[in-house]
Amino acid sequence: MSDIIRLLPDHVANQIAAGEVVQRPASVVKELLENAIDASAKAITLIIKDAGKTLVQVIDDGKGMSTTDARMAFERHATSKISTADDLFQLATKGFRGEALASVAAIAHVSVKTRREEDDLGTQLDIEGSKVTQQEPVVMPQGTIISVRNLFYNVPARRKFLKSDSVELRNITNEFHRVAMAHPKIAFKFLNNDSELFNLPAGSYRNRIVSIMGSRVDDKLVPIKEETELLSIHGYIGKPEFARKTKGLQYFFANDRFIKHSYLHHAVVSAFEGLLPDKANPSYFLYLDVPPDSIDINIHPTKTEVKFEDEHSIYAIVRASVKHALGQFSIDAIDFHRDTELDVPYEKARGHAQAPKIEVDHDFNPFQQTSSSSNGSYQSNAYRAPSTPAWEALYTGLDEESSMIDENTAFAKAEQSLFSSEESTGSTNIFQLQRKFIISTLQSGLLVINQNRAHERVLYEQLLRQLTVQNGVSQQLLFPIALERPQEEVSILKQLQPELESVGFLFKVLENANIQIDGLPLDLKQTDVEPLLDSIITFQQEELPDGNFSHIDRLAARMASKMAIKTGDVLQQKQMEQLIDELFACKEPELTAQGKKVFINLTGEHLNSKFN
Ligand code: ADP
Ligand code: MG
Repeated sequence: MSDIIRLLPDHVANQIAAGEVVQRPASVVKELLENAIDASAKAITLIIKDAGKTLVQVIDDGKGMSTTDARMAFERHATSKISTADDLFQLATKGFRGEALASVAAIAHVSVKTRREEDDLGTQLDIEGSKVTQQEPVVMPQGTIISVRNLFYNVPARRKFLKSDSVELRNITNEFHRVAMAHPKIAFKFLNNDSELFNLPAGSYRNRIVSIMGSRVDDKLVPIKEETELLSIHGYIGKPEFARKTKGLQYFFANDRFIKHSYLHHAVVSAFEGLLPDKANPSYFLYLDVPPDSIDINIHPTKTEVKFEDEHSIYAIVRASVKHALGQFSIDAIDFHRDTELDVPYEKARGHAQAPKIEVDHDFNPFQQTSSSSNGSYQSNAYRAPSTPAWEALYTGLDEESSMIDENTAFAKAEQSLFSSEESTGSTNIFQLQRKFIISTLQSGLLVINQNRAHERVLYEQLLRQLTVQNGVSQQLLFPIALERPQEEVSILKQLQPELESVGFLFKVLENANIQIDGLPLDLKQTDVEPLLDSIITFQQEELPDGNFSHIDRLAARMASKMAIKTGDVLQQKQMEQLIDELFACKEPELTAQGKKVFINLTGEHLNSKFN
């Protein structure tokens, strides 16, 4: 029997490759728009006929191509965007595979007109079935016009599978939205069957989102902006009260590229937890920028699925940023004029965001107390206590705490202006109601604070800070507390020892597996010790879906709710003032860790309406 393996002819190979790249007219639209962006176009026009089945044309004013390059561009694996495999890890362009034009040319009639700035004449090429059928010089402005006609004319089976015009048009429109939203500095036009669907001048991100989504979204957007070492994030989230049961407008962009990412989607949704009505979906437009070598966009030919290095940290940062933005928003909503410095999350007030970094150190082994000192980031941050002698840790803690207090008073001072309205006469405008609420007057009306929840919030943030960035203070016990617990529970506490010590819980596990507690967190009463440890142990025994971030998050939340001032506790004037100060020095004063309202603001307007 003769040999049977043959190389496929190019045009067949191209047709097969085309199947991966071009599924429908919208895929052509995406590839052509991206090429125009890569060519540094300032203005791009998209023209389609019959939902792209008859014509997809993209006109740009980018850098154009030489005659040779224009011919080369339609060869498979012809690209100007990478030359070595290493370039793959530093991609700043949309394209790199060199497949798009070759694929499109295999399944449609393509013509290209293109001129570079330095050339007097441009080049026109017609291509059919991957072959150049015509080439001539042409007079034209700088840039490129690519026209793709009769898509799938030679693959009837695929043409049959195209959906109705309205469905294909919707797909195209979606692609157009995604590309245009990622590039607000580029002007875009979009015409279908000679009627103009979009005309988007260059502008800000917000302008672009609003001109695509409609002006009704304008007043529903909450800005978001955070910068960390790992990534920077900016964009907008939809105000919770406008969340809808329908899917919502959900857009992630990574390095100016629309991406789909269910894990990060979850991060956003979980940040909205407790703020949305049942089954409602949040909207978001989030732009992430990461170093190009920390993102892998190569895993899917159409490149909407990407993989980040260190996804856990990115998850944590995205979630925290959204929470922060939501927090800021509800503060703004009750017209507090916050000093912008207060908008900086506490991790960043110390230079850079350290918390997420710590939380995902996968090498960390809580059992390995002494050797953890070899781990720089742990040592220098949250977990100093275990390796320093107890008494020394006490004093270092104190030092840090006092500097922290300084900072908090600075916050508090800035916040005080909130409460100094004309009507207010010093401290007398704060009082307790039903041993449950703290009432205070504001310029705009009355502030009603739930004392238990407010304290819970304050403690929660304090504990989080201690768990991630800076150790807390411990009150040393004159008479250590001895605890007898089953082996299983003791080993859970042992696992949590670094975290517990960083919030001021100092203890030893004795030989007989009993526990000796030598120091307690500052705010913890001795009588609350056992219930708190119980609750930590049960919490630890529960399933933990979200990895390290929420583990620390939940530990802090659990401790805060046990340690907080309760309903029924009588508060002194000074305590109330301090609580209010501390509350409004929080990143998110308006909600507890569980998403419950901490205070309400009865505005003058609202009060007036009650007197009608
Ligand atoms: P890729 O974008 O992956 O490089 P394509 O097949 O999409 O592959 O394009 C091949 C090459 O053709 C590009 O690398 C680029 O050099 C050139 N090219 C395509 N479209 C344009 C355009 N609109 N303006 C200038 N050059 C273009
Ligand atoms: Mg391309």
